[in-house]
Amino acid sequence: MIKVNHVSKKYGSFTALHAIDLEIGDGEFIAVLGPSGCGKTTLLKLLAGFMGPTDGTISMDDTVLASTKHVLPPEKRNIGMVFQSFALWPHMTVAEHVKFPLSYHPNKVKEGRKELQARIDKVLKLVGLDALAERYPSELSGGQKQRVALARAIAPLPNLLLMDEPLSALDVELRMEMRKEIQKLHRETKASIVFVTHDQGEALAIADKIVVMNQGRIEQIAPPEVLYTRPETEFVATFVGKCNLVKGQWRGDQFVPTIDSDNVWHDLGVADSFKTSGIYPVRPEQFQLMAADSKGMQGVVSFVQYQGHEIQYTVEVGEATWTIHESVVATRFETGDVVGISLKNAPKQTGTIVSN
Ligand code: ATP
Repeated sequence: MIKVNHVSKKYGSFTALHAIDLEIGDGEFIAVLGPSGCGKTTLLKLLAGFMGPTDGTISMDDTVLASTKHVLPPEKRNIGMVFQSFALWPHMTVAEHVKFPLSYHPNKVKEGRKELQARIDKVLKLVGLDALAERYPSELSGGQKQRVALARAIAPLPNLLLMDEPLSALDVELRMEMRKEIQKLHRETKASIVFVTHDQGEALAIADKIVVMNQGRIEQIAPPEVLYTRPETEFVATFVGKCNLVKGQWRGDQFVPTIDSDNVWHDLGVADSFKTSGIYPVRPEQFQLMAADSKGMQGVVSFVQYQGHEIQYTVEVGEATWTIHESVVATRFETGDVVGISLKNAPKQTGTIVSN
């Protein structure tokens, strides 16, 4: 277990990280997600030991790895690293890239030549490069280069694998494929992984737990599904997927939207922080569009976008603009249509408010 305890990092007078607390369990796959400049790489550099914290400590089990007084350097830690730029050595073959860290890593093998070769073969097979062992980086595609970087990182059996946007230099198709490869590596190596990304789809797809960062602070830590269905802050609700932040009044577990007080919505799992600020966060697929004469709020469709598996509607409701996603098999609406809008899966609306 790695514990980041109240870690802050300043660059001169600028605070890049504000009192971060984070636990990384053995074998856990964590995605660190946030916009550019929020401090993701800074956190990764601290975890690697490239620099020390301005405040707080980082420890592994009972050993302090970094504090304001002392930092255990990267070469003395059992970590592997993969970067966005593959950082391969042009004069080394694929096999040599894997062999190199086995000789210099703190977890280096003490086996003989035969065993060493067997280990190199095993790692290359794991990343699907066994047929390309003698190639140089200039003879490889982008995806193959990233596989070499992955193989090099996992070869010495690190217990922590740090990945800084490892897939962002690849095209969409290859990225999808490499996500699976990384999940497979995680399954087989059992290393803890900290995977930095600014791509929310990637984080949701790949990690056991997501750490959402904003301006040097952690906004929320949760498994992907919890993060999506129960965001705790406006930032998380809108950064991770699309979200309509509907304003209104919370009375116990019932919500009356300001825009139309004839409607009452029931609590489908909204975090307390939204209740305090008078907001109901509604995902585009949580709304249902109906004919104008049905119950629900009234709105006017201003844009319709066909997306293959769904239709994305933009609907003007009073002063607000909402995004609503409907299945292609649902009733279709066109720009200019007046529509009724309700919340899906909500218990029958009574129109009466029950105060707690
Ligand atoms: P990106 O997604 O763009 O890589 P990030 O979330 O990884 O961003 P960091 O690289 O950790 O962000 O940077 C966090 C903040 O600290 C940024 O505002 C950045 O400008 C600042 N920063 C980073 N390194 C230094 C440095 N060596 N000196 C001064 N400021 C720095």
